[in-house]
Amino acid sequence: MTTMGWVETKAAGLEVYQCRELNDHQIIQAFSGRQTGNLALHTGEDPKQVVNRRRLWLEALGLSLDRLVSGIQVHGTNIAMIKETDAGAGAREIDGAIRETDALITKSAGVILATFTADCLPIFIYDPVTPAVAVVHAGWRGALGGIAALTIKRMNQEYGTDPGNCRVGIGPSICGDCFRVGPELAERFGAIHPQTVFRDETASKVDLQAFIRLELQGMGVKPDHIYDSGLCTACRPDRFFSYRAESGETGRMMGIISLKKT
Ligand SMILES: [Zn+2]
Repeated sequence: MTTMGWVETKAAGLEVYQCRELNDHQIIQAFSGRQTGNLALHTGEDPKQVVNRRRLWLEALGLSLDRLVSGIQVHGTNIAMIKETDAGAGAREIDGAIRETDALITKSAGVILATFTADCLPIFIYDPVTPAVAVVHAGWRGALGGIAALTIKRMNQEYGTDPGNCRVGIGPSICGDCFRVGPELAERFGAIHPQTVFRDETASKVDLQAFIRLELQGMGVKPDHIYDSGLCTACRPDRFFSYRAESGETGRMMGIISLKKT
C-alpha cells in the first residue's frame, strides 16, 4: 500500500506506517496500527501489557524502549525541548512522562520522541540540516492553538531551523469527511482558514489535515515538503483505533521519530 509518500510495511509481523520522505540515513519515523494493539498508558489498560507491546513494536524497528520519551498530552500548545538525559521518560510508566506537553523537540541522536493518537493528528517534523526532529499531537484544540506552527517556530528559536528545509509527515488521522463539528467550532476554524470548513446536507465539517498544512505553510514550510498519509482512522477501523468511531472506548497508536546515532 502506498499513499502520498507513505508506505505500510511489516516489521516482525507488526504493521508499520512510514513516510518515505522522512526515513533517510539520518532518521527513523514510524506509526503503529490497530493489530499491534493499544500502545498508550493513559487508557486504563494494564500497563504491563502496554509496555510489552511497546517494546515488541520498537524492537521490530531496531529500537529500544529505554530510549523512548513521551509527554502527558493535554490538547494544549506546550512544547518541550528534550535532552539526552530525558531518554526513557514515560517509556514504562505514565508518571515519568514529560508534564503537560503535546509537542516534543530534540537534536539528541538516539532519543525516540513519541506521540499517541486515535483520530488526532500525529505530526512528524524533520529538519535535515541542523539536524533535529519533532513530534506533535494535534487534535482540534491544538490545531486551533497553532501547535504545529509554534513547534516550527520554537525549532527556529532554539536551533536556527529554517522552515524551508523542514520535511513534515502527517500520519493517519480523522479525515475532513468524518470530522463533524458544531456551528461554533466551524466558525472558529472558518475565521482562521475558511477553506478548511465545509458543509454537506447533514453537518459542518473541518479538514484538519488541510488546516495544519496551511498553518505550516504560513510558517514557511514548502507545500511540497508536507506529506499527508491520506489515511483516515475513522474510515478504517480495521486498520486503526478511532476515538470518534468507537465513542471514546479505544486504544491509541504510537507515532515515533528519532535521529539515528551515527
Ligand atoms: Zn474518514
